[in-house]
Amino acid sequence: MDRIKYQNKAFARPPRDASLPAIGWYLHMPFCTTKCGYCDFYSLPSIPGLVDQLVHALNAEMAGRDPCRHVESVFIGGGTPTVLPLVALGVVLDSVVGRTGPVAEFTVEANPSSADELKLDLLRSRGVNRISFGAQSFYAEDLAVLQRLHDPRHIVESVTHARAAGFDNVNLDLIYSVPGQTMGRWRDSLRRAVDLGIEHLSCYALMYEPGTQLTQLRRHGRIVACDEDLEADMFELTIDELTAAGFEHYEVSNFALPGRRCRANLIYWQNREYLGIGPSAVSYLEGIRQKNVPDIRKYIEGMQADPESIVVEKEKLAPFDRACETAVQMLRLTEGIKFDLFHRLTGFDAAVIFTGQIRRYCSAGLMHATPDTLRLTRRGMLLANRIMSDFLPDEASVAGNA
Ligand code: SF4
Repeated sequence: MDRIKYQNKAFARPPRDASLPAIGWYLHMPFCTTKCGYCDFYSLPSIPGLVDQLVHALNAEMAGRDPCRHVESVFIGGGTPTVLPLVALGVVLDSVVGRTGPVAEFTVEANPSSADELKLDLLRSRGVNRISFGAQSFYAEDLAVLQRLHDPRHIVESVTHARAAGFDNVNLDLIYSVPGQTMGRWRDSLRRAVDLGIEHLSCYALMYEPGTQLTQLRRHGRIVACDEDLEADMFELTIDELTAAGFEHYEVSNFALPGRRCRANLIYWQNREYLGIGPSAVSYLEGIRQKNVPDIRKYIEGMQADPESIVVEKEKLAPFDRACETAVQMLRLTEGIKFDLFHRLTGFDAAVIFTGQIRRYCSAGLMHATPDTLRLTRRGMLLANRIMSDFLPDEASVAGNA
């Protein structure tokens, strides 16, 4: 078929302040065709009457809150951004690119059943250079449990279409420990992803978040959660399979071919600054974290009447709290905390404020420390969330002073 050519419009781009570090931009597009059973992100079915109003509100928020910093990465997630009609998606992309200019990494999330060739061409024409598909599994049985709309065939088609549109950086999200999933099925899903020539894989254990369909079904005994030992074995298998296939395991759940680590996520894991736009989006700028209202109507009305009213949470982190949070984020990375970088970013000496935790977890074989770094061991990664909770402010101040 003939491919549509889109022309970029000319924008008078606001000047950027070169004296400050580059930041990330995140845009939350809240529409999804249906709600997946495990999802606790803010999303709702696309409402035609609200699309234009949402696009208008997003543009207004971008114009009002652009801190005029250089932008290293843009990530449009959700929700499912590619559920937006073609024209509306184009307007949003124009607005973003018109402000940020070309960025090193520009990712858009898509579902295998929602990204047709026209939309993929549109994304490429606007400078999107990375696409992330919510593939989750190559088995229809797993996708049915997860209440996903697509089937495995759509994953292959979407990747093929993305390649044809010119994407050379593709991520697949995959989920393991799905009820009923066997080790063989998970291994096969990983191998099929690798065989597709994917550059980046995010592999998450299924979580039972409060309020989701799967949590309800589990509570009523309609599904049985995966055995903990099997889940741990699947995690270890993931590392073995993907590193053997040439991927770098650079974050607890993330794997990349050399040079393909996700810049947008690295900004979070290094606890650097980012601007969040859209309903439910979170920003972290100049020491202040704030969250937008997770309600599309309140977001649109707020942007029309009083843009400040869309902020539902706002806090300025104390330096010590900020240091603890930075430690927790950095521990997600396989390289862990680099003490000199940590000191530069926070003003604290990690080896001092976390003395108690370092002693405890290193002697248990869950962490490994050198004079310059602290990281989780493979066994430690299996307990990452538990261990990290010990690095949060209350625990840190107690344990660090022990
Ligand atoms: S497509 Fe993604 S954001 Fe939408 S409901 Fe499913 S998991 Fe949630």
